[in-house]
Parts: sequence; structure tokens; C-alpha cells
Amino acid sequence: MADSLNTESNIVVGCGISGAVIANLIATKFNEKVIIIEKKSHIAGSCFDYRDNNGICIHKYGSHIFHTNSEIVWDYLSQFTKFNNYKHKVIAIVDGIETNIPFNFNSLYQVFPKNIALKLQNKLIENYGQDSKIPILELKKEKDKDLNFLADFIYKKIFLEYTKKQWGIPPEKIDSTVTARVPIYICKDNRYFHDKYQGIPINGYTELIKKMISHPNITVKLNTDYKNVKLKYKRLFYTGSIDEFFDYKYGKLPYRSLRFEFEEYNYAYYQKSAVVNYTTSEDFTRIHEYKYYLNDKSDKTVIVKEYSENFEEGKNERYYPIVNEENLSLYNKYLEEAKHIKNLWFFGRLGDYKYYDIDKAIIRAINLIKTIQ
Ligand code: UDP
Repeated sequence: MADSLNTESNIVVGCGISGAVIANLIATKFNEKVIIIEKKSHIAGSCFDYRDNNGICIHKYGSHIFHTNSEIVWDYLSQFTKFNNYKHKVIAIVDGIETNIPFNFNSLYQVFPKNIALKLQNKLIENYGQDSKIPILELKKEKDKDLNFLADFIYKKIFLEYTKKQWGIPPEKIDSTVTARVPIYICKDNRYFHDKYQGIPINGYTELIKKMISHPNITVKLNTDYKNVKLKYKRLFYTGSIDEFFDYKYGKLPYRSLRFEFEEYNYAYYQKSAVVNYTTSEDFTRIHEYKYYLNDKSDKTVIVKEYSENFEEGKNERYYPIVNEENLSLYNKYLEEAKHIKNLWFFGRLGDYKYYDIDKAIIRAINLIKTIQ
């Protein structure tokens, strides 16, 4: 039955990071009331984490590693949490050999004999310069015979099968910015991210978001579907998927989803890093071992195998917008429609249909509030 909230408040739909930033800024900067409507039984959206029976902090919706070069985002979040010193490192299993991802000079020596690795290293420096970063689809255009051989190797052994598992299509059929997220590093740095600021909130993401929304001006309604609530609003901020908002009148926006299979072991560690990518074997894309993030002490460990699948309403969650021309043109149709509704904004990974990292979602929300001010 429809519930009625008799108020002219600011309504934020969705209590993930984007919704939490907006609610926090309206409450603190505008000193206005905000109601957050959340379908799930918990706050924090896909950043949600919790401690399990073994005291291990589990990221329910897959690993979330904070990283940013933005002072604004860093200063903003630092009001609510400290971050630990965790630096994300990923290993890939390539035909049974462990190698560092993003592919860098260390990876070269792990997969090739020393003389070949050295030759390729020198050529990479000569052609691109020390400390540069090259997307695989760029390196594949290389004319030099040796570098072309390397590009082909990295493409086949790191990107092709993983991307097919992750997206259901090969790398050149998805937007090139997706594989460019993990470029080839012309250096020896094994860190996954090279941003100035990185780490995990010391009390977890759920606590961080709880702090952001703990304000007398903010009310949170969990287990509440926006569609079942009749609302008068002053402003409506919607972080759900725009097609659902408009009852799919122009068709459904496609998303990739994930499925996680948990396993618990009676020993301290399962693998050498928090994430191991399976780029040439297995049906899952990667294994997460969460205790690395906050250095949780337990003689047990929990791992999660991550499988990708298409999003289907009622079956799984929306994780990744599938950004391509066709889908963006559908998205834009909905956005046009939205322009006719006063005081309504769509934002966040689903609302904007953009593959945001946490920091980019925060910047988007901060900037959105500035336009309203
Ligand atoms: N990718 C890949 N092999 C890897 C790591 C990444 O092919 O070992 C590609 C894949 O297409 C993936 C994209 O790069 O979707 C972006 O990877 P990222 O780690 O940024 O994905 P996320 O952690 O956001 O799922």
C-alpha cells in the first residue's frame, strides 16, 4: 500500500555514496531537511561493508578501494573518517604464472626470459617515456614488431578473456575508456592506483556513510521503495536508474551485474593479495580476500569468487552501466523527459549512467549541489 509522507522536504532516493553526499550537503550547507528513501535494508549502497563472525570486514558488493587525486574529495571525506595506508595491488594468474596487474616492468620479467623482458622494457621507455601509461587498445596499434608482439601478448593474456567474462563482449566492443582504466604502466610500480590519496576508511564504508548522514536534518527510510511512497517534495535527487523512474517507457537501460560466491577457510590467508584476477582461466573473473583491507586478524579467512552476468530486474543488482552509443542515446531520451520535471535531478552511477569511481561520484554530487546553490 502507498505510504504517505506529508512533507515538503528534500528527497534523496538511494543511500549510496552519491545520495549520502547530497543529503549531507543539503543538511549542513542549506540547513534544510532531507529524507533519504532506500530500497535496501541497509545504508551505503554498493559500498556496504560489515564485520562477519570471524571479525573480517566484508565488502558485500565486491572490493571498494578508495583512491583520488582530488584535494576537495579528500578534505570532504576526512571530516568523517581516517583512511589506512592500504595500497591496492592485484595479481593475475596468466596460464598458471602469477604476474602483477596493471602490467608493468615487473610483469615483463615474470612472464618473459630476462633478455626479452629487458629489450621490451627499453623499447617501451624509448617509445612512450618512463612513467607513462598506455591503454592496451593504443599499444595494439604499435607498428614496431617487438612492441606489437608485446601488445598482442598482453591483450590475449590479460584483457581478452577477462573482458569477455566481465562484459560478455571483447575489449574493442566496449567503450575504450573501460579497458583504459587499467593501462600498461611504463615503470616498476605494482600499485593498482597511482593516485595521491588512497586507502580504506579505518572503520569501513558503512560507518563512513553513517557519519555523513547522521544529522538532525536527515531522516533515513530503509526498506522503502520510492515507487510505493507518495511524496511532496521541494527537490528530488534520484540516484536510481532513470529508466525505472520513467517505468521503462522507452525501453530498459542495460547493465552488467555481479554474483558473489563466498568460501570460508580454516587458515589465515588464501592468496597473496586482496584481489587475484583470473585472466586466462576459470568462469569467475577474480577472487577477493577481504581481510587484507583493514588487516583483520583472524585464523580464518573468507574469500569471494566474483562472476559477471547480465542485470535482470528482481534477480540481481545493477553494477556497471554498459556505456555505448546506443545505450547513451536511450539514456538521453530519458534525460530529455526529466528536464520537463521541475526540481528533479538524476546523478550517481545509475542516475548518470556513468562508470564512476567513488571519488568521481563524490565530485559529481558536490558540483550538483553548487549548481543548486
Ligand atoms: N581488465 C581486464 N583484465 C584485468 C583487469 C581489467 O581485461 O586483469 C579490463 C576489464 O575489461 C575490466 C576493465 O579492464 O572491466 C576495468 O577494470 P577495473 O579493475 O577498473 O574494473 P572494476 O574494478 O571497476 O570492476
